Amino acid sequence: MGSFYLVIGKRLPQGLNAINDRSKCDKCGHKLAWYDLIPIFSYVFLRGKCRYCKAKIDILNPIIEISMGLLFVYAYKHFQIGYEMFMFMITSSLMMIIFISDFSYYIILDSPLVLSGILILILKLSYLGLKETAFSILAGIALFFCMLFIKIIGDKIFKRESLGGGDIKFAFIIGLTLGFQLGLCALILSTFLALPYSCAALMLKKNNEVPYGPFLASSLFIVFTFSTKFINLLDLIFISL
Ligand SMILES: [Zn+2]
Repeated sequence: MGSFYLVIGKRLPQGLNAINDRSKCDKCGHKLAWYDLIPIFSYVFLRGKCRYCKAKIDILNPIIEISMGLLFVYAYKHFQIGYEMFMFMITSSLMMIIFISDFSYYIILDSPLVLSGILILILKLSYLGLKETAFSILAGIALFFCMLFIKIIGDKIFKRESLGGGDIKFAFIIGLTLGFQLGLCALILSTFLALPYSCAALMLKKNNEVPYGPFLASSLFIVFTFSTKFINLLDLIFISL
């Protein structure tokens, strides 16, 4: 799956077909054979270099392949087969695709958002029932408008695009997955996660465009994985208020 997400995250933003186009070396353009494309193993046997031109293969490839494998093993070990395991697999997959496409091309693709939205709806309907699913959709819509509101204010203050369309659509998925309160937690957490990166990017580069998607995606992942801890935290805050 990690290998497949690399293909989606890197090819779709370039307007290439993820399934029909054959894999090529980024440097020399040589078509890659099936034995050049075995996850992790090919990278190890080729010692991280293209078989044909010896250009370095992006270290991101084996890292994403290994971490996706580990995440899926964790999903099975930690949750057992059921609602939470499938949700964990969907959110971690979405996180990985957004990491790849937003860091490389500053874009959150529509197709993974739509597909994961449909899968989440099917899961919620079959495990939690119609009422819960309807509440989740409402939470998604509420967070969508929260983000839209922040974008409109941000655009006015900074006089440029503050948030991308993908970030706003992604807020819907966050609400759909987590519900309104935890979804709001994830949005707040994402600003804290993005802050150090944004400061570093501002200081190091002239181009101060920061991809926000990876921070939203990791917040969704963190809040989902530790949802009981976040619910306890929310209870504490509400009691002390
Ligand atoms: Zn090459």
